[in-house]
Amino acid sequence: MGRYMRQMSLPEFGAEGQRRLSGAKVLVVGLGGLGSVLSHCLAGMGVGSLTLVDPDRVELHNLDRQFLYTEEDIGEPKAQAAARRLARLNHEVGIEAVPRAFTAGTALAPGQYDVAVAATDSRESRLDINRACCGGRIPLVCGGVAGLYGTLQVILPGRTPCVRCAGGGETWTDHAPSPAPVVSALSALMAQAAAGVLCGWELPQNELILFDGKRFELEHIPLRRREDCPHCGGLTEETPC
Ligand SMILES: [Zn+2]
Repeated sequence: MGRYMRQMSLPEFGAEGQRRLSGAKVLVVGLGGLGSVLSHCLAGMGVGSLTLVDPDRVELHNLDRQFLYTEEDIGEPKAQAAARRLARLNHEVGIEAVPRAFTAGTALAPGQYDVAVAATDSRESRLDINRACCGGRIPLVCGGVAGLYGTLQVILPGRTPCVRCAGGGETWTDHAPSPAPVVSALSALMAQAAAGVLCGWELPQNELILFDGKRFELEHIPLRRREDCPHCGGLTEETPC
């Protein structure tokens, strides 16, 4: 346990928090700039397993912000290059590489993962992941960046607004460029949110968090569940999985 001594010394984590992290199954969809940094954080913190989903290959223009990859990885599937890199960081983490897209037809079963993280730059993919997480009642951390700004939402299906309730992620621009420090800052917040879900913290649940990388500010926008939401509308905290 010496490996995790520093975080375990914090009352917010402790031995119980580490036990929860070490037993957790985490799904990461998207291994670009956001997925690189957050999966690096989660592997370093010692989550039990990481499933890494991305259909793309490493390209030269990824290397300015996608810190899991090196020049030697160019042309390799990101999922496999990321899995190789993270296995070298922490052999205690079970890592599965899935070099395919998360599509509208992908379903998630209850208990399949303890938390999912949507780190994609596509609105359509965010909605696909949101739908699957609502269907499987799997907590979801969803984030995105555009320019110097980032957004973050924590979704507990049946309890909080989902991505669709919040407007379907339309505040996030598809495929928008963003500089490495903003990408890294937002992805660190996403990793912290995922760790918080796993450790059972009371996180901001009914709001969209906006990160302003120009003014160095965080803003919290209240969100409401939509009763007619096609993804989570019928769910309650008591809805059986
Ligand atoms: Zn919803």
